[in-house]
Amino acid sequence: MPFPPSQAASAAPSTPAHRAEPVPPAHPVLASQDPELAALIGAEEALQADTLRMIPSENYVSAAVLEATGTVLTNKYSEGYPGRRYYEGQQNIDPIERLAVDRAKAVFGVDHANVQPYSGSPANLAVYLAFAEPGDTVMGMALPMGGHLTHGWGVSATGKWFRGVQYGVRRDTGRIDFDQVRELALAERPKLIFCGGTALPRTIDFAAFAEIARECGAVLVADIAHIAGLIAGGAHPSPVPHADVISTTTHKTLRGPRGAMLMSKQEHAKAIDKAVFPGLQGGPHNHTTAAIAVALHEASRPDFREYAHAVVGNAQALAAELGERGFELVSGGTDNHLILIDLTPKDVPGKVAAKALDRAGIVVNYNTVPYDPRKPFDPSGIRIGTPSLTSRGLSAAHMPVVAEWIDRAVAAARTEDEAALTKIRAEVADLMRAFPAPGLGAATS
Ligand SMILES: *Cc1c(COP(=O)(O)O)cnc(C)c1O
Repeated sequence: MPFPPSQAASAAPSTPAHRAEPVPPAHPVLASQDPELAALIGAEEALQADTLRMIPSENYVSAAVLEATGTVLTNKYSEGYPGRRYYEGQQNIDPIERLAVDRAKAVFGVDHANVQPYSGSPANLAVYLAFAEPGDTVMGMALPMGGHLTHGWGVSATGKWFRGVQYGVRRDTGRIDFDQVRELALAERPKLIFCGGTALPRTIDFAAFAEIARECGAVLVADIAHIAGLIAGGAHPSPVPHADVISTTTHKTLRGPRGAMLMSKQEHAKAIDKAVFPGLQGGPHNHTTAAIAVALHEASRPDFREYAHAVVGNAQALAAELGERGFELVSGGTDNHLILIDLTPKDVPGKVAAKALDRAGIVVNYNTVPYDPRKPFDPSGIRIGTPSLTSRGLSAAHMPVVAEWIDRAVAAARTEDEAALTKIRAEVADLMRAFPAPGLGAATS
């Protein structure tokens, strides 16, 4: 389901490949003032148009979201919150932020929303500031198991300034081990428990986490950065009745600008607002706030529900096709937008496969798999996802060819067959030309 469908259709170039006249530059002022930078942006637009982008944390924002991010709102300072600012001239900024907050509350069904965090990592840091003291014990999923750095992992400030205890998934099922989570929580009594992560192909059982958090008196933080769009579209259960705090980025499945939000029950509203400003940040990025409001408006529409369900449908169709081609999928498949592949049986390291796929026009990332015997910078797996290709309108009917390309590219990585990768790249570009990307219009090279 292209999203929004009308826009994808109108953005379709009539004769993309064999244009007679030269195409005017997409950014004419930039092209004349700073041609070096304009050329790089143009090349990135062509790359995003011609490739199959399968990094599960990425997406294509709509032209409307893109427009909002490139406005004069970037010129304005507005430390504080609507009606309580430290700078004058907020006649337009206050209603913009109120609109974003009200839309967030409506889309997710929450009491309180703060739309000011600069990105997912600072949003999580604000949660620590609101509920914990340096040295306190916090609990989250281990990074190599699929958690996020900011959930108390050692190299992160959250693991250096707090005492992080970490849970994982079971070796036999690839799923969260709730017996281990409960045992660890009751033994360590963390102040905060984070659930959610970056490489979890299965539904998160927020109710099970909430029960454990209650038993040990912890604040439960649902970090829905990856799945916010699925939740907004009804394709993943909501954490709202269960979690004390919900943290999310706005730029992954939610299809907004790079940014973040913190949502909570009313009782935690003050603590969260104080932690974001003045606790951690200065002025909010108003152009981002406006674009978040636009994205939330899009996410409230019925076609976004179709989009969210199509993302999951495509991932499940792709998982089945990959399984048939002998790929080993962590946990055996997927419930959401992402698939984690252990390439050990294919005899190709994750990084070698990811780089070969990139040369074949399929952009993924190498990733650790649970209990990975290899090092994080050279792990056994790759992580792929369907949010971006679904935004372009690819459907389950396309997943057999996508699986075949991945299969051929991984085989070519093993045999170092550069010609095979070049051939796949041309086939990919050929298909993608028929599915113009939202926001890119006629940028296709
Ligand atoms: C992406 C992500 C973040 C961090 O977001 P940034 O905007 O990259 O800082 C935090 N938590 C989870 C679970 C994520 O997937």
